[in-house]
Amino acid sequence: MGLSSSEINKQKGSGVLIRVDRSNHSWISHPRHKHPPLDLLFIQSGLQKIKCSTYLIDMWGNHHSIEKISKHIISTHVFFAIIKAYSWCIQETIALGKYLRNHNIITIAVGQHVHCASILCKEKKSFVNTWSTAFDYSIMGNPESECIRFISQLLNDSDNVSCKRYQHFQHTYEPDIKDLPFPQFTYRMMIDYAFPFPVSQLNHIKKWAYIQTSWGCPHNCLHCSGAVRKSYGKKLYKRNPSTIIEEIRFHIQKGAQAICFEDDALFTDKDHIRLLLQQMQQKSLNIPWMAHARPDELDESILKSAASSGLKLLKIGVESGSPKQIEIIEKATCGKEWIAQVKHVFKLLKQFKIASVAMFMIGTPEETVSDIDRSISLARDISPDYIQVQRFTPYLDTRFYQTLSKKDRRTINTLSCYHYSFNKWSDVGMSEKQFNHYHIHFYRSFYLRVSFIMKFLKKNKFLLAQKSFLIERLKNVLINHNHGGLYDCSM
Ligand code: SF4
Repeated sequence: MGLSSSEINKQKGSGVLIRVDRSNHSWISHPRHKHPPLDLLFIQSGLQKIKCSTYLIDMWGNHHSIEKISKHIISTHVFFAIIKAYSWCIQETIALGKYLRNHNIITIAVGQHVHCASILCKEKKSFVNTWSTAFDYSIMGNPESECIRFISQLLNDSDNVSCKRYQHFQHTYEPDIKDLPFPQFTYRMMIDYAFPFPVSQLNHIKKWAYIQTSWGCPHNCLHCSGAVRKSYGKKLYKRNPSTIIEEIRFHIQKGAQAICFEDDALFTDKDHIRLLLQQMQQKSLNIPWMAHARPDELDESILKSAASSGLKLLKIGVESGSPKQIEIIEKATCGKEWIAQVKHVFKLLKQFKIASVAMFMIGTPEETVSDIDRSISLARDISPDYIQVQRFTPYLDTRFYQTLSKKDRRTINTLSCYHYSFNKWSDVGMSEKQFNHYHIHFYRSFYLRVSFIMKFLKKNKFLLAQKSFLIERLKNVLINHNHGGLYDCSM
């Protein structure tokens, strides 16, 4: 049966935004803080402004197959699909793209997998065809405003020559953040994206919203990749603090009880962060918040001011307890100073009652077992609330990948999957079995200490009082699986 003209118009003005993530393949995996795909949410709000209705499917945390997701999308008669993905699910995203294209849905790739694809297209001629059978258009770099601009052109005239420039990997788009509309979080999303681990400072908070105040990071770490970042590029683009205050108020009105700042480098620009903290205090927002930070960008005065404006938790990239490894990955020019600063900052965090997650990495180039032992010892010494240990991963868009031989690149490119939790390639001279052993050993050495367990129970007494806490967290996971990570934007 054919579609009526009003149905065709509806179809043309509608789309789907999908984040593909391999975590959907496993029911039991390393517990992780599930972040929303904030770039897609910016795009969604922008499209809403041009009267284009969309819904969001987040495959991080749902267990549906690509086929099932594709069938669902096809049944909704959308005109276009914007697909965000990462290195570790590039095959799945290509399968999804092909499926949708075969059903006349226009497919647009955004996110880190686009960077990987641009590199693979240069290295493997056959990949050019593979990619073009899955995607009509690819937007490299920061997609937020560019994607809104592009869809608007596409809806007006898909044969427009200006659309053609999105068919190749010609441009890396800078963020254009002046008029970005606020991303919107439904009640369900605020719960689904809650910080998942018990922290006494945040014990009554169930609903979270996410805000990005800046794009870019001026640092130059060897392992830096779009796979773990929120923005692209080194140049820093900052939003006006008064707009951020407005956005915080917007989320509070919608029910958010806490804010997670998603910037790659929130504390890099001292004027930006000081002005933001000042305004948060002056406007008495009184909302708890968390963020990511580098230890070398924190000091007593900034932490004191941040704590007064509601900072409750920081995730800090410590990386290694070995000065040599810090210098090898170019985290800092002096590894010893970096580690001294890490120790200083974790003392300050305790002084200001700010909870912490220390992020470590193992498997960095030339790392030895003694280096890993130094990291374990540093983790125990600084005693954060949680640690997270990632594996050094040679994503295609890292500077490290560019330093590898053709042979190593070929090996990496034939891996079925590489991911910071279970990367299978390493040049540290350890077998996979040894590497797995040290990864688990790191966690055990930190978490299975009597002193840690006692401290955890003391700090989180509320867990015993609120027996429902874990049940609620489990329920969230199950509900998330039931609704399939599908968020309707008819708000
Ligand atoms: S600090 Fe983080 S975001 Fe910045 S370059 Fe290093 S890894 Fe990338």
